[in-house]
Amino acid sequence: MPGVLRLPARLLTDLRAHAAARPDEEVCGLLAGHGDTVDARLPVENALHSPQAYDMEPAALIDAMRRIRESGRELVAIYHSHPHGEPRPSPTDVAENRYPEAAHVIIGRKGGEWRARAFRLEGEVAELDLEVVPDAAGG
Ligand SMILES: [Zn+2]
Repeated sequence: MPGVLRLPARLLTDLRAHAAARPDEEVCGLLAGHGDTVDARLPVENALHSPQAYDMEPAALIDAMRRIRESGRELVAIYHSHPHGEPRPSPTDVAENRYPEAAHVIIGRKGGEWRARAFRLEGEVAELDLEVVPDAAGG
């Protein structure tokens, strides 16, 4: 499997802002696009409101999935934050991965700075090359 995930710069900014806005709980959502390239972000409420776990609110998740389908996109990645930890998968993230075909973007905080990394979690955990691409003109 080729290991790359392409993310527009504005979406990376959005991900960091979403994580920073909720420093006391993990935030989560979906990243949609085509192939390895993301071009849309769909935040979903963390039903657990926990700083150490997330579970996407079921109705909001179904709605987000439908919006992805209706826009002609595919689910490319799941994202969530680690407000008190590094951006790497926890044992729970690996054990409870419900989307084996999707990549996982984790936004973690280390030393006050939010950083994002991308992984595949099925089989052996593998880090993907998170390639930040310039925003498309005219979007
Ligand atoms: Zn996690």
